[in-house]
Amino acid sequence: MIMFSLNSLAKFIVILLIPFCVSSCRSGDLVPARIRPDFNENRAYQDIKIQLSFGSRAVETPGHEQEVRWIITNLKESGWEVELQMGEMMGNPVQNVIAYRQQDGDHILLGAHYDTRLYADQDPDPELRKEPVPGANDGASGVAVLLELARVLPKEMDIPVRLVFFDAEDNGDIPGWDWILGSRMYVEKMETHPRIVLILDMIGDADLNLYYEKTSQREIQEEIWTLGRELGYEEYFIPSPKYAVIDDHTPFLNQGIPAVNIIDFDYPYWHTTSDTLDKVSPESLEVVGETVLQWLMGQTEAVEE
Ligand SMILES: [Zn+2]
Repeated sequence: MIMFSLNSLAKFIVILLIPFCVSSCRSGDLVPARIRPDFNENRAYQDIKIQLSFGSRAVETPGHEQEVRWIITNLKESGWEVELQMGEMMGNPVQNVIAYRQQDGDHILLGAHYDTRLYADQDPDPELRKEPVPGANDGASGVAVLLELARVLPKEMDIPVRLVFFDAEDNGDIPGWDWILGSRMYVEKMETHPRIVLILDMIGDADLNLYYEKTSQREIQEEIWTLGRELGYEEYFIPSPKYAVIDDHTPFLNQGIPAVNIIDFDYPYWHTTSDTLDKVSPESLEVVGETVLQWLMGQTEAVEE
């Protein structure tokens, strides 16, 4: 009984307070706010789930085909022009998905690989080493962040942004293959040089540790890490070098184009069958997605409509 009467009293107080709160809490909205794009980590996380439902996205699998069609549909829904760049590398079919919203001479290129590795050859269990890598982090996470950026970026920027989803990054050290075939093909065919290239790879790790990748352009790297730390993510952006990796930024660096790879290579499930949804988190996608978004907004102004 006493619980009931206290409850009623509490309800009464809440009812009294609601109108007060509504009017005072909304008063801030009367100040015209500059509309700021906001990265939605939950939508990005959903996009990892969807990709995992396709199964393996290794080249020439049904999941790969589904992934390509799904990326294209998503980009078109977000208002991007999409081109499918097809070719052959080492006898393998390669398909890069390229998206832009403005004719882009000078541009900033954001890239991620969408393929997954044919075999989980780092799996601790030898029996599982011929299984495909699920690629929740290694593949799906970078794609998910790029697709969410595609949704929230302003329609027109004074330096256009181009998104590239690279194929065939992840089959190195397998007979008949090499690493980074998609980005190598892209650079071979490239007509206009991007001013900066930013690659996102394995950035969904729930235990996120982002060190400087050693071959990346250091000045831009420092800029992004400093911004990330200013946004409150100092726990994740660790401003010291750790690994040097061959990744989709490498062919651009070889052409003298400033490129940075944002990668968390401290991932125990790398190229194993355990690279699954439970190893990635929306929070990590937010850390990287929001930082890249704010960095982009600092590089280039939205053009007023
Ligand atoms: Zn990989």
